[in-house]
Amino acid sequence: MSHFGVRPYPEPSESLSSYLLRLASLNGIPNITAMLRVLGYSQSSEKKLCHIRPYQLESMADALAPLLKRDAADIVSAFKNQADASLLYKPSRMIQDLRTQHIRICPHCIVSDGYLDFQWSMAHIAHCPKHHSLLLDSCPLCDQPFSLSSELFVGCPHCYHPWSDSPLESHKISSLEMQLWQVLTTPQADHQFLLDVITSTIAIYARPYDSVHQETIRVFHFSEYSHHVSKSYELIFSDKARKHWQRTCFEQRSGLMPLGDKAIYIPINNWLRQLGHYPMSLTPFIADKKSEPLSLLPEYQEFLKPLRLRLTTSVDDRRYQIPKRFLRELLPLSPHAFQRFITTHNESIIHQPPQKPVEIIDLKFIASTLANKVRHRSAQQIIVEPKSIGLSQHLTNINHLILDVLIDVVEGSLERLDSKRVYISAENYRNWLDVQLKKACSAPISAKKMKRTFGCPNDEFLHYMYTTEGVMGMAGAQYQLIKSLQRPMDLSVPAGAND
Ligand SMILES: [Zn+2]
Ligand SMILES: [Zn+2]
Repeated sequence: MSHFGVRPYPEPSESLSSYLLRLASLNGIPNITAMLRVLGYSQSSEKKLCHIRPYQLESMADALAPLLKRDAADIVSAFKNQADASLLYKPSRMIQDLRTQHIRICPHCIVSDGYLDFQWSMAHIAHCPKHHSLLLDSCPLCDQPFSLSSELFVGCPHCYHPWSDSPLESHKISSLEMQLWQVLTTPQADHQFLLDVITSTIAIYARPYDSVHQETIRVFHFSEYSHHVSKSYELIFSDKARKHWQRTCFEQRSGLMPLGDKAIYIPINNWLRQLGHYPMSLTPFIADKKSEPLSLLPEYQEFLKPLRLRLTTSVDDRRYQIPKRFLRELLPLSPHAFQRFITTHNESIIHQPPQKPVEIIDLKFIASTLANKVRHRSAQQIIVEPKSIGLSQHLTNINHLILDVLIDVVEGSLERLDSKRVYISAENYRNWLDVQLKKACSAPISAKKMKRTFGCPNDEFLHYMYTTEGVMGMAGAQYQLIKSLQRPMDLSVPAGAND
């Protein structure tokens, strides 16, 4: 073939795949695969059309140019913003690539215009900018995802349901979505930030619990995607919607009550974190304050790559899993202390596949194991806090006490798991402190720690007790300690310290 007989120009904002499809059908080429073959591409190139890169667009334009009897540069410029990585791709964004992998359509536009608009494939768009109706992610009749075939211009390629029958339902559009309709045509400086906000919301709203584990996400097809995006805008604007989400979270995760609010509201806090430093300053965008409750949870399983489905059998379980790195934010224990506690219950740790090793910890398991450690204070118990003097005098700290209460080394209870107050009987506390002191004295202690604990009344005195390794000798530490506690002195001195 030297050139195509019919050579239409692309329509404004027509998608590249729509243009190729039209070219094919006008020139008697049966389908998009055959069209790509004419251009010298393999069958697998069809999927790549959704995420075409600048150099791929250039080589496709080179292949098209002689067939269209047109300049390759003109072809590139017609589709340039569909391959513009600086606009469409951002690695740090929750949805990295704004281009959806599935075909989305406005049935009304298709009937009147006869082509697919590239904007419909943008992840942050819920509605057709012309008709203000929800975009279709699959056929409303047979629920099949759309395929690139020329039947699509008339109706569903699978069940032949015609688009001309589609009832027109226009919606009120938030001003944020309206503003973001212009991302392709008239990009503005704050668009990238606004895209961060809405894509984070879409992803976290789709899978609130997985979003804690997986930070980089592409949109996978699911049939109610547009509806979901529309609800995401609502979440940003509606106080009512957010409160509803908060309530749902609480109901779903009330088993985590012993671990405190931070653990219960991880998905919401994760969302606020993603939104960055001015989450709710978006309120001026509010267009429509009345809103129906969000239908959140169960999660949209189709939305994210179901990588973690392989890890656990029950959907519920995943709702309680967090990466180990989050533990420190949730619970007051040092990571070291917590690791010791966790590894005594190995079954709660699940390793993700090797390409991204993340230790996941089941919060529900921890909460249920520890629930009986959180109790009201009984009359016999005293309160021990981080600043309690006895702790430093016995060379220990509150984290050790919390840990020993948690793992049943000493009997006591905790005010909450996210606080650092321990309830313990005076006798138990005294005995525990004695053990801590002995432990501390039986191991070398660094001079730095010693000074921090007691202050340094006499540098010279401390100095001659150092061993060659730079740590204070055990007996020397004991000596200083006993002196500070004003108990009878034990004057044993480490060997060599008198030189
Ligand atoms: Zn439309
Ligand atoms: Zn259908």
